[in-house]
Amino acid sequence: MLSNESVDLTQFSDLGLAEKLLRAVAEEGYTQPTPIQEAVIPVMMEGRDLVGIAQTGTGKTAAFTLPLLDRILKLELTPQQRGCTAIILAPTRELVAQIADNIRTYGRFSKPAVALVVGGTKHGPQIKAMAPGVDILVATPGRLLDHMSTGAIRLDKTSVIVLDEADQMLDLGFMPAIREVLRKMPKQRQTALLSATMPKQIRELARDFLTDPAEIAVTPASRPIERIDQSVRHMSHSDKRETLNLLLKDDDVECAIVFTRTKRGADRVAESIVKSGLNAAAIHGNKSQNQRERTMRDFKAGRTTILVATDIAARGLDIDGVSHVFNYELPNVPEAYVHRIGRTARAGRSGIAISFCDGSERGYLKDIEKLIGNPLEAIGDPQPFEDPPTKKQGQQANNRRPSFAKPTQRKPRASQSANSGKVDGSKPSRPRRSRPRRKTTSAVAG
Ligand code: AMP
Repeated sequence: MLSNESVDLTQFSDLGLAEKLLRAVAEEGYTQPTPIQEAVIPVMMEGRDLVGIAQTGTGKTAAFTLPLLDRILKLELTPQQRGCTAIILAPTRELVAQIADNIRTYGRFSKPAVALVVGGTKHGPQIKAMAPGVDILVATPGRLLDHMSTGAIRLDKTSVIVLDEADQMLDLGFMPAIREVLRKMPKQRQTALLSATMPKQIRELARDFLTDPAEIAVTPASRPIERIDQSVRHMSHSDKRETLNLLLKDDDVECAIVFTRTKRGADRVAESIVKSGLNAAAIHGNKSQNQRERTMRDFKAGRTTILVATDIAARGLDIDGVSHVFNYELPNVPEAYVHRIGRTARAGRSGIAISFCDGSERGYLKDIEKLIGNPLEAIGDPQPFEDPPTKKQGQQANNRRPSFAKPTQRKPRASQSANSGKVDGSKPSRPRRSRPRRKTTSAVAG
């Protein structure tokens, strides 16, 4: 992840981490700390509060989990019954699971006791896991509060809390729960807050609950956006499904995430992909935790090659090898576009992001282009401008059956700037229809 140009590269061993952690990191194949790790690890090891502006894909999970593990090892901290030494709060079940996986990876030689606390599953097993006390508890805020209120977990000896993806937790309405948790924790503690963006409420949270925090903002060494070939295809809403199914059959598409704005839309699109002979599954907040976990396992293992997701379900997920991101519907929040396309071009690879834009989405496209500072390379003529659909209309549109009219496309214009990226200028602008390589082996999850 780091560029090798700098002469004096910091090594993990320079950071003073415990030997067991250095060994685990080396086994993972990490050679140097990423910029966020270089900045955050020393601050956290000092015990200082911290506000970090960082996106996923920068290595931020290791940046806060390594110092936690280091502290537990060196201070030989042991939790009391029903207690925990450190808490990490995260917005979604998937992110909680991913963070816990990271802790197990970096803790493979130190064997920390880790428990997961998330909504949507039974309380019993979580209570049992916390009963002997744990080193690190990874939780979503709502369920953590439930367990706090019944005494299943006590935080009176917890000395560190990390709030990961704080802006996403804000969007999901977790702010009151987070404030409640922080109020109930010992005043003497370390608080680290990480967020991709810094809206006012997050600044206020930091002001109210953090003490003289170090502020760290790191843009990834190679901003993923520069390694992503981005383009937009203008078309009517009714042409989207057929166009998507054609594009997905292109040989270059190894593993793709398709984004929709609504949960219902995600189900419908996944069904249509499966019907076209490819292997897809939908993931969103209406699926049970078991379904979501199974879907993610299948996708990570390559058993499902196309994931159809809503923003919230996919945010923060670290999945290597996603060759394509399709924005079946443009997000109405421009920042979500950057998060979405960041699912590809991970771990130093490049990726392709193709967005579909109908007449009602032209305003969203304008906002996105303003945010990224470039017009996207466009294929096809913009559709007549329409107002964005209301929620109800949006759902009706999602229910519409696709028309099988040919998508309108024309040759891509020359790339307009270094950042706008060409999708596949060397290839025909019409999607090739190749024989499906992936037969349907699983139906849509759920
Ligand atoms: P994150 O931003 O925490 O989601 O991490 C993104 C990806 O970077 C994960 O796949 C990590 O395994 C990987 N990663 C984290 N730290 C390093 C490092 N120092 N060198 C190489 N890859 C890393």
